[in-house]
Amino acid sequence: MTQSADVSIGRVKGYHVHVYYDGATRASAEELRAAVAREFAVECGALRDGEAGPHPVPQFRIICKSEVFPKLVPWLMLNRQGLDILVHPLSEDSLADHTRHALWLGRPVALKLAALSGGYSAEQYPRAL
Ligand code: ZN
Repeated sequence: MTQSADVSIGRVKGYHVHVYYDGATRASAEELRAAVAREFAVECGALRDGEAGPHPVPQFRIICKSEVFPKLVPWLMLNRQGLDILVHPLSEDSLADHTRHALWLGRPVALKLAALSGGYSAEQYPRAL
């Protein structure tokens, strides 16, 4: 079998889902966050109303183990309430994760890529739930 990917899937330590919102869609984001927290074994961060890292607009983050991805992402396709969502892997290359390895539901947000290099801090990876 040939391996054409430039990152082995075995090096992906989970995924982040970032759900973007604004003043008009904040309530939808809160509802979506509550539903995800109820339905899935994931870590849901607080709604961040300002900029955070590469994210130039308000968002909240879901930290997801690889085995939850095939349940969570199709659910988000059907239940995202019009919100724009970034799904990115957690490899050792955060810049690639947020660009060529990224998956978008809805419209992509212009990320602040200069904030990205190398890997992630420990708390950004999935914990044993
Ligand atoms: Zn992230």
